[in-house]
Amino acid sequence: MSDKVNFGDELVSPEEKTRRVGEVFSSVARRYDVMNDLMSGGMHRLWKDRFVNRVKPRPGEEILDMAGGTGDVAFRMAQRGARVTVADINADMLAVGEQRAGRRGLEGLTWKVENAEALSFAEASFSAYTIVFGVRNVTDISAALGEAYRVLKRGGRFCCMEFSSSDWPGFSNLYDAWASNVIPRIGKAVADDEESYRYLVESIRRFPRPNAFTAMVADAGFVRAAAEPMLGGLVTIYSGWKI
Ligand code: SAM
Repeated sequence: MSDKVNFGDELVSPEEKTRRVGEVFSSVARRYDVMNDLMSGGMHRLWKDRFVNRVKPRPGEEILDMAGGTGDVAFRMAQRGARVTVADINADMLAVGEQRAGRRGLEGLTWKVENAEALSFAEASFSAYTIVFGVRNVTDISAALGEAYRVLKRGGRFCCMEFSSSDWPGFSNLYDAWASNVIPRIGKAVADDEESYRYLVESIRRFPRPNAFTAMVADAGFVRAAAEPMLGGLVTIYSGWKI
């Protein structure tokens, strides 16, 4: 890849984007969980519950939780008996996750540093691939979707949750004001890091619209690619199947 890509609202080289996304998550790792609660008013917990209900993890099945960060989604799936590999490009996020898993006495999780664009796993390794609030941070999204397809078994499911802009007129204005003005300030007050939270908001605005992302999922080879919007499209669950 040689063309410029967006890092938030800035245009940078692909290599610089990957490096700077790494810096963002290393910077926010220790405060990531408390910031999630503050930024979403605790709603991210409900969204993740709903997401995992859609994934329907089964006891003993192998699931790859990509961009799994500090483990929120993986923990929910492991509690239902799935064997979950939490993979993320950022070792600092995974380290916080491992500590959290230890405090909760959760066992059976595998933690692995991986770039979603080029996975080290053999093809047909997993029954489900999940990626929550992660894909918008990946530099080459098509490469990541191709890798998701490769590592899934036949009959495996791709499940993704991501933010987008809401379609509800009044709500979308309110949300834009909250995201652009309030979230970076909370980031400054709580984590002394306004810039990282400004990037997170900008990256949401830059992420493809749900129909465009659904088309990318289908292009990667998944069948029955679909988008299920929640909250007027503020958060969308995407799914697809490898047959
Ligand atoms: N899934 C977790 C959750 O919902 O709480 C963490 C989401 S966090 C907003 C985004 C994660 O994506 C970060 O942990 C970051 O390191 C990871 N990430 C960004 N680019 C990545 C890449 N190319 N490959 C793997 N992980 C990546």
